[in-house]
Amino acid sequence: MGIMDLQPTELKLTEQRSLEIIWSDGKKMDYPYGVLRMACPCATCREKKRAEAAKPKGLLQVLSAAETVPLAVTQMRPVGNYAYNITFSDGHSSGLFTMELLREIGTLVET
Ligand SMILES: [Zn+2]
Repeated sequence: MGIMDLQPTELKLTEQRSLEIIWSDGKKMDYPYGVLRMACPCATCREKKRAEAAKPKGLLQVLSAAETVPLAVTQMRPVGNYAYNITFSDGHSSGLFTMELLREIGTLVET
């Protein structure tokens, strides 16, 4: 079974402000909401991350009002059988999280 064939068999929002996914290979992975939000692969977020990375170090970071409010996942919508569209409590919903990306994030969080 290749990584592309892996599917979540169970999705659960936990008390610890994280999403728990049980995959079809039996692996259980935990995704803190903040990590998911940071990993949003949409063009806007990728551009924002690029701009952040280009800033000189030590520059005071000003948090927007939305960023200081604890984030939550408010909705997860399957897109075909290859991705999930995740809506966050800050109103952001343009990220398409492919199964491949979710596996990758889960592996990073695990280690
Ligand atoms: Zn995004």
